[in-house]
Amino acid sequence: MKVYFDHNATTPLHPEVKKEMAEAMDMFGNPSSMHAWGREARANVEDARRRIAAFVGAQDDEIVFVGSGSEANNTVLSLFVCASNMCIPGTKMRSTIITTKIEHPCVLETSECLAHRGARVKFLDVDRYGKVDLDQLADMLGDDVGLVSVMMANNEIGTIQDIETIAKMAHESGAMMHTDAVQAVGKLPVDVQRLGVDFLTISGHKIYGPKGVGALYVKKGTPYCPLIRGGHQERGRRAGTENTLGILGLGKAVDMRAIEMEAEKQLLGDMKAVLKKGIEEQIDDICFNGHPTESLSNTLNVSFPGAEGEAILLYLDLEGIAVSTGSACASGSLDPSHVLLATGVDAERAHGSIRISLGRGSTMQEVEYMLDVLPRTIQRIRNMSTAYIKGGAHAASR
Ligand SMILES: *Cc1c(COP(=O)(O)O)cnc(C)c1O
Repeated sequence: MKVYFDHNATTPLHPEVKKEMAEAMDMFGNPSSMHAWGREARANVEDARRRIAAFVGAQDDEIVFVGSGSEANNTVLSLFVCASNMCIPGTKMRSTIITTKIEHPCVLETSECLAHRGARVKFLDVDRYGKVDLDQLADMLGDDVGLVSVMMANNEIGTIQDIETIAKMAHESGAMMHTDAVQAVGKLPVDVQRLGVDFLTISGHKIYGPKGVGALYVKKGTPYCPLIRGGHQERGRRAGTENTLGILGLGKAVDMRAIEMEAEKQLLGDMKAVLKKGIEEQIDDICFNGHPTESLSNTLNVSFPGAEGEAILLYLDLEGIAVSTGSACASGSLDPSHVLLATGVDAERAHGSIRISLGRGSTMQEVEYMLDVLPRTIQRIRNMSTAYIKGGAHAASR
């Protein structure tokens, strides 16, 4: 049996997306050209823009197509050093950025880089469930803060933040609000008006669309500075000839999400509950990470002290099951997940954690197969680990 339980890392193309992209494969015109070839490409790009705007409650011209979720996040954060250098005529922007300790690496790394380029960056703590500390946010906010960037749903533990409240707090102190909604869009209802955000990030390949395409919502009237400069594509907000095929695929992916999202959310929630119960009943000494209720219905993060996450991943892979340890970007490094550490999980437990992320193709049979394989896998690894003593003494003997 082949079981893909790593949908937060990436998703397969939706068959409808694949079909539409395959049919459009010969559409090669440059959307900036005025002839028929160009007009055809332009029509498709604008059609996708309309669908995506409608899906998140934005106006068409508030959607900027970019090359990835990472690029969208880089663009928003970089705006604040760009703007403070007076790149945007007439705007002198506040250059302190507040973000969190559990963001995706594309936000964290960019923040750290910007700190060397004149920005001040402050990182919010989270509680044991991964929720942002709102009292600390209130303390940090002040007339120096230009941007608050908080992810809507976490890719590793699934915790969902109260973006509406955070955006209100940011705006009351005169700061702008960005949310990385890559894991939220297509899994939860996302409406930019209701959330009250100025910027919002979307990525194609996390919602059964193609890789290498993303969309950035930029609220009308918000100061902006392109990260990629050159031609006048995207109304001067992102240079470079549009990824027409990718954009078309993203538009279709969003359409399919609108149809499938609600029913799928229920279904995956039921599967997650079965997984959780089965793991609890069959495996000793485990611990779930993330928020018990305010969490993505597809994401389950669990720690097995005494079993290395990488070992679990490799043994499960041998049985045809794909999961991940921490984020895909962080695997390959031996550092424990920064997200788990931020929730107060000790390094030992963080090392023994895996993320199971379900998706639209997941079935209850797959869940049952997982519940058959996982307990003996953990037992096997723990048996090999001389350092493991049930109940916690393992930490001392690493
Ligand atoms: C995957 C992911 C990204 C990066 O998106 P790419 O399109 O792969 O660059 C950003 N933020 C979160 C929360 C993600 O899960």
